[in-house]
Amino acid sequence: MRKLSFIDLERQQTRIRADLDRRIAAVLDSGDYILGSEIGELEESLRAFTGARHCITCSSGSAGLLMAVMALDLPKDATVLVPAFTFFASVEMPVLAGLKPVFVDIDPVFFQMSPEALEKSIKENGIENGLALPVDLFGQPAPYDAILKLAKKFGLYTIEDAAQSFGASYNGKKTCNLGCDVAVTSFFPAKPLGCYGDGGAVFTNDAALAAKLLSIRVHGQGADKYDNARLGINGRLDTMQAAVLLAKLEIFADEIERRNSVARMYNEALRELPEIRVPAVAQDCTDVWAQYCILLPAGERETVRKKLAESGIPTNVYYPTPLPFLQAFSHLNIPHDKFPVASDVSQRILALPCHPYLEKDDILYIAQTLAGALK
Ligand SMILES: *Cc1c(COP(=O)(O)O)cnc(C)c1O
Repeated sequence: MRKLSFIDLERQQTRIRADLDRRIAAVLDSGDYILGSEIGELEESLRAFTGARHCITCSSGSAGLLMAVMALDLPKDATVLVPAFTFFASVEMPVLAGLKPVFVDIDPVFFQMSPEALEKSIKENGIENGLALPVDLFGQPAPYDAILKLAKKFGLYTIEDAAQSFGASYNGKKTCNLGCDVAVTSFFPAKPLGCYGDGGAVFTNDAALAAKLLSIRVHGQGADKYDNARLGINGRLDTMQAAVLLAKLEIFADEIERRNSVARMYNEALRELPEIRVPAVAQDCTDVWAQYCILLPAGERETVRKKLAESGIPTNVYYPTPLPFLQAFSHLNIPHDKFPVASDVSQRILALPCHPYLEKDDILYIAQTLAGALK
């Protein structure tokens, strides 16, 4: 029996170990653990990679989302519109910053925030002065043409949650530079570009917002650290993680190609199984495959997962519960039939092993095991 990993960070590390050792040793030699020169170097590389004018690295994707919402200075009763199907932090941070959550159903093909559902939510709730926070779920950009058009029509600010999509593109432009007021990504180890701890980055093309984000990152600092112009947080990325990310960036373009080749091999191998829905990528998008998620026939997930596990194939469920139905939002008493697509998808979705170093015969083995499990 094989024993596959869901994400293989070891092979990646072997590939860049010498460069990692050299870069980490340089940080140890410098002693600049906080905001050392690697931070500026990384921010410059991320700016060049995305094309965004300003990049502010931060301590996690969640911290970046909180900083982004704080920087927008929305009125206290403002609403945040978020997809009903994403990781909790997408809504947790804006709500922590005082915004009122309104959930939006996803589309049934790409699993992204549905522009039709977004427009309906805006009108139903009479939303003004709000924030739309689309998420690039599983590594594919949300439909920004339609979302940004609605944001403009209804006067909404926008934040792109690109925690899973760093390196993907939309209409030829890289995520984190797709026209939202602010974009946020995460460098959590399992994300497409991950460090060896927590990390993230915030992007904007607005110089005034960038200055505010820099201030918020260090306790709202004004002229200096002890001149506090506003409330902020300790949101800094540490120098060691920046050194790790600089080494990983060297092979990132190649890893994105490998991720896409893995997805193509999966699609090909699973074509024989018509009862499984393979993921779709919109025509105007490229995907970085943070996850490769399939849709199973209703009611089969637990047996399929068990059979795969018995064959050494780890799987995960992203996400078992749509956000509106999590205990943290039980006080909102949201009716259980309100998000039919998110509810259906959350019961049938399954994430298969996916990383740049997954081999073709492993993928064939997974497809074969799946076929057996569905019989
Ligand atoms: C991972 C993730 C975050 C949070 O990033 P952290 O770095 O773990 O704080 C936010 N949104 C989405 C969609 C994520 O997948």
